[in-house]
Amino acid sequence: MITTERPTQLLIGGSWRPGEGEKTFDVVEPATSDVMARAAVASPADVDAAVKAARAAFEAGSWSNAAASARAKVLYKIADLIRSNAQRLATLEARNAGKPIRDARDEVMGAAQCFEYYAGAATRIFGETIPVTAPGLDFTLREPVGVVALIVPWNFPLTIASWKVAPALAAGNAAILKPASYTPLTALELGRLALEAGLPEGVLNVITGPGASTGSALAGHPGVDKIAFTGETLTGVSILQQAAPNITRVSLELGGKSPNIIFADADLDKAAPAAVNSVFGNAGQDCCARSRAFVHRSIAEEFDQRVATGSKQLKVGDPLDAGTEVGPLISIKQRERVQGYIEVGRQEGARLLAGGAAPGGALSRGSFLEPTVFDRAENRMRIAQEEIFGPVLTIIPFTDEDEVLRLVNDTPYGLSGSIWTRDIGRALRVARGVRTGVLSINSSRSVHQEAPFGGYKRSGIGRELGMHALQLYTEVKNVFISLE
Ligand code: NDP
Repeated sequence: MITTERPTQLLIGGSWRPGEGEKTFDVVEPATSDVMARAAVASPADVDAAVKAARAAFEAGSWSNAAASARAKVLYKIADLIRSNAQRLATLEARNAGKPIRDARDEVMGAAQCFEYYAGAATRIFGETIPVTAPGLDFTLREPVGVVALIVPWNFPLTIASWKVAPALAAGNAAILKPASYTPLTALELGRLALEAGLPEGVLNVITGPGASTGSALAGHPGVDKIAFTGETLTGVSILQQAAPNITRVSLELGGKSPNIIFADADLDKAAPAAVNSVFGNAGQDCCARSRAFVHRSIAEEFDQRVATGSKQLKVGDPLDAGTEVGPLISIKQRERVQGYIEVGRQEGARLLAGGAAPGGALSRGSFLEPTVFDRAENRMRIAQEEIFGPVLTIIPFTDEDEVLRLVNDTPYGLSGSIWTRDIGRALRVARGVRTGVLSINSSRSVHQEAPFGGYKRSGIGRELGMHALQLYTEVKNVFISLE
């Protein structure tokens, strides 16, 4: 039971304990700005203890050397426990992250599916035999990397934790999970459920605390063999720097400024609602948010009006209300940052078509913000170049295929994007030209459990999900047997 009276603890080596000196930080509910829990601050000594516990568990071999089918059973059990606790987890996530409850429920189910997928994948991690020139037999083994640090953000707390924990465990690693300080609660619950499922002690450790101290102590720890990080691009830079002295392996899922390209022949009945949902889902705090819409000039006015109307119809409200479509931003600070961008957009000369203000009345206690649409923008504007990470859509008109490709790729990011057209040749030409790791045609879906997910350019390094994720959590060992 999460209360403000009893702070949450750290999970290290299978035991729950307070942080060194019993230091804590407040966990705030964004819809009300009330403190909903207090969480332990893991000191550098606590981080060291977690790394040592993970190392000891890894070397003990009861997980890393277990039959893959035995690991699979525990992962299936974790999935079962997530499902049987779904309502509680969804409510916790909705309150802590400010997510509409229906989205939180979907995300909890997605986390269960993720563990099921990697339970199945655990028994499908194998090497190859290679016809080498020397007289002998050559083959590869895929082995766990060792101790992995999993550092995750606040926008999809349980989802992104699962994307990392499930494949890392499937491959036989021991892990230390560090959730974002805004949203530590479901990660701690995941640790509890993993123990209940029979995961050996120390194989999954969960530590909480500020990125600048706890996260940094973890990223720079010489006992960590691999870091999987999701978060802001600049934090990713810092992670690379902290990992460099130890040659720690790093994979990064970073920010985005994803394009939504709408050609004149697009089915607007589908493209316009998708444009609204793909940027205002999770209140725009989504690395895949289609925050730049490029619309062909010949349909721009109609498209823009449809999008403006759709945005105004979205129900902004209490995350626990079943009808809510857009919850609050993660914090008042984040809302101020986004409002700053809305001001920048006005000054840059884009036209404000919808939103722009913080709702009043019952919602004024929380960090709510109206879905906001700018049109008649230019790609050079800051609202088109920088990741706002809030409910702001920037619509930019274009004239032809060459121009739109040039504009779409004129960004430091390369995470995802969508193309809307009935012309399959054009769809495929443009898909080949867009420099992003994930792309959808006549859809705004970016994420599939079974398919690789990740970014080009400053959006990241490596691919999560699907069988690709297992490459992040395994080393390849080549073995040669002489037949001479
Ligand atoms: P941050 O980069 O601020 O934080 C991410 C995690 O890193 C948190 O756990 C944070 O801890 C920790 N951290 C912060 N500083 C350090 C440090 N110096 N060393 C080690 N760890 C550190 O990102 P946000 O939580 O603000 O998340 C939003 C960002 O995540 C957006 O830019 C978004 O685009 C990106 N994102 C990318 C995704 C992708 O797959 N490409 C998916 C989802 C989000 P603490 O919370 O305590 O600061």
